[in-house]
Amino acid sequence: MVDQVGHRAIVLGGSMAGLLAARVLSGAFAEVVIVDRDKLIGVTEARRGVPQGRHVHGLLARGQQILEELFPGFTADAIASGIPTGDLGELRWFFNGRQLEPATTGLICVSADRPVLESQVRSRVQQLPNVVFREQRDILGLVTTEDNSRVTGVRVQAQTQGSEVETLDADLVIDATGRGSRTPAWLSELGYERPAEETVKIDLTYTTRHYRLRDESILDGQLSINPVSTPSHPRGAFFSRIENGRSIVSLTGVLGDSAPTDPEGFLDFVKSLPVPDVYEVIHDAEPLDDPVSFHYPASQRRRYEQLDRFPERFLVLGDAACSFNPVYGQGMTVAALEALTLRDHLAKGMPDPLSFEADIAKVIEVPWSISAGGDLGFPGVEGERTPEMMVANAFTIRLQAAMTHDPEVTRTFMRVAGLVDPPDAIQSPDITFRVLGPELVGAILTAHPELGAELQGLVVGVLLGNQQEPAAA
Ligand SMILES: Cc1cc2nc3c(=O)[nH]c(=O)nc-3n(C[C@H](O)[C@H](O)[C@H](O)COP(=O)(O)OP(=O)(O)OC[C@H]3O[C@@H](n4cnc5c(N)ncnc54)[C@H](O)[C@@H]3O)c2cc1C
Repeated sequence: MVDQVGHRAIVLGGSMAGLLAARVLSGAFAEVVIVDRDKLIGVTEARRGVPQGRHVHGLLARGQQILEELFPGFTADAIASGIPTGDLGELRWFFNGRQLEPATTGLICVSADRPVLESQVRSRVQQLPNVVFREQRDILGLVTTEDNSRVTGVRVQAQTQGSEVETLDADLVIDATGRGSRTPAWLSELGYERPAEETVKIDLTYTTRHYRLRDESILDGQLSINPVSTPSHPRGAFFSRIENGRSIVSLTGVLGDSAPTDPEGFLDFVKSLPVPDVYEVIHDAEPLDDPVSFHYPASQRRRYEQLDRFPERFLVLGDAACSFNPVYGQGMTVAALEALTLRDHLAKGMPDPLSFEADIAKVIEVPWSISAGGDLGFPGVEGERTPEMMVANAFTIRLQAAMTHDPEVTRTFMRVAGLVDPPDAIQSPDITFRVLGPELVGAILTAHPELGAELQGLVVGVLLGNQQEPAAA
């Protein structure tokens, strides 16, 4: 057994972030224990501890790549088990009521129901000989040294009646209990500061229903239809073909708007989307369940890395550290990126909590700026709008328009939104030129010849004064 960093690591929470953390911990500890309040093994349906699991979960391209790296053959196994896959750029995407020009990106979309995706990851983690699942156990709190400087284990209690509280010793404890994480309260009880929290209130509701299509040929071989919510067209939807001949539709309403859960109201909301495509596909499909809603009040980022003190041998990751507006599809992929960060830290020995939190803050930065920045493009969302953000949002409107006719722009966007490439890729001179068009670029360069190929600064001034959606090229 591997024992180079410590004997036992305990992961609190056995959802996506916890499973991926356990995967990398298994290479550094003799034993890894995953504790969760739900039954996990064999579960392929949405469960109580992950209520968002009933709703569409897109896995970003970078997430798929990391799953493949951590579990070689993951995608082939998913396909073999009946999960449909496709090229992310070839899905039917709409922004502002206009369809994007499809682009072959080579980026793979694994189109699984969220609980099924989790079960695929879980079964690979189950195969690791040194990972143990302690299911149906409530996590009650941390155990620490007398001076509270170091975490030495956790207190858990099985849900069977009359069960005693158990103490599990650990050399390292990881909080992956999701957005409802008790770490801020635990820190306070132990005499530490709570982390500062940033929130962006989007007041979003997902409403979801599963279907079986009467005839899948109506999809023209496409995997999904996504009219994405934008400030000019705030109602959105994600329709995806998933495993076992089923399909899923999640309708999204922002700033208090929400799709009703009665079948008629649900279909009326579908009809009110900016494009008819989702309605055409589902109006005569067989519903497999009743619509269910999930309210998501705000994105929430806990700034653990800014604390001066933190207990040793204790880390926080996944939604417990940052929960992103789900329409950007980032949570699972960020959890996967954080697992890689954890692996890098473990390669150097026992992780130092504050330096680990500082490193995952770097991982969180780009997706947070995409999601928080994107949300602040909705005039009704409260929050400070920096000039950079306003420029980025104005540029995004033009970018979305360019994607309706230029597959190269679509391809680049898919790589950036999929967290495969950094945002700089979208601001390259080539893409900037394609997005702004020759006339605007020519006007900018005439006005400011000294700036030459450095288009970025020019874009700022021009776009800040002109945030209207441009006409189709
Ligand atoms: C509506 C919606 C749609 C989303 N869509 C996407 C998407 O398209 N793509 C994407 O990547 N992400 C999406 N997300 C985010 C995604 O669900 C999470 O990022 C992902 O599940 C990883 O979260 P996590 O593992 O950190 O926490 P969670 O998934 O919330 O899991 C926490 C785990 O901890 C356990 N737990 C919590 N407290 C206790 C306790 N006291 N005792 C014992 N066990 C406990 C729970 O049972 C659960 O298993 C969406 C989120 C929402 C709300």
